[in-house]
Amino acid sequence: MSARGFGIAVVPGNTIGALLTEVADTLKDADIEQPTLEAGWLLEFVLHLSPLMQRLRPERQVTVPEWASVQAVVARRANREPLQYVLGTEEFCGREFRVTPSVLIPRPESALLVEETVRRCKDNFMATVVDVGTGSGCLAVSVAATLPEARVLAIDVSPEALTVARVNMAQHGVEKRIDCFCGDLLSPLNDKLANQVDVIFSNPPYIAEIDWMALQPEVRCFEPRLALAGGRDGMDLHRRLLQQAPTYLKDGGVLLMEVGLGQAQVVCRQAEESGWFSTFEVLRDEGGIARVVCFERKAGGASL
Ligand code: GLN
Repeated sequence: MSARGFGIAVVPGNTIGALLTEVADTLKDADIEQPTLEAGWLLEFVLHLSPLMQRLRPERQVTVPEWASVQAVVARRANREPLQYVLGTEEFCGREFRVTPSVLIPRPESALLVEETVRRCKDNFMATVVDVGTGSGCLAVSVAATLPEARVLAIDVSPEALTVARVNMAQHGVEKRIDCFCGDLLSPLNDKLANQVDVIFSNPPYIAEIDWMALQPEVRCFEPRLALAGGRDGMDLHRRLLQQAPTYLKDGGVLLMEVGLGQAQVVCRQAEESGWFSTFEVLRDEGGIARVVCFERKAGGASL
């Protein structure tokens, strides 16, 4: 009698080694850039076996349920769903964040916003800082964890995003120190915060309409459009924040905004023309791209 007759729950001939090759081939056919690496990560996610152990034990048999689970996640990834949504997490500033299709996947260059916020608050431990468009909460959590005395407010227009942000805040033990608000840009802040805020930081949507179709399918088809599309030239939200921020910033308080390629100069010019800001600094990311603009509110100006 064949082994099958005894109901042995393995797929005949299917070992980790064979599965790895098959998954990598499927991902390669789907134009995934690093098929072998991602095959290892997807197998790790399902089998709880590190890529190193997979390589050390290529002859280990794969059971039928394991095989089915691997097929399910590989099908999602081959459909170009971002790996981070399939795995449910992404690392940012040394911490792991829960991500769902309701939130933008954190990008390494956004760490500049965290570093600059922390730098601007280093002599003022009790600073009040506001994260506009918190999404997964990755920026608010990273800032709150680094500045234990700071008062942090996190705003997002999407209630679904705030649900994810709250999970991340709890996960990293800062949920009691961050106040979450649902609403458009700074609109949820009340008058008591007028001229009280030290730093307003934001990674707003900044993809221009014309660039939309050129985005990778992972981004265009799966990440929230609300978090990506910034109007015709991609700078609608920057313009609106430039108008709203002076009301809440202290004299000398700072507005930090992430920008896309080629946008920094335009946003700096608009900040200058508004008449509300005194300094205009641009920070570059590791790729040399002007990525974050920093504007200091002029002292003494009346609020809007
Ligand atoms: N603040 C979040 C981040 O940096 C979300 C930004 C967004 O949704 N545009 O990831």
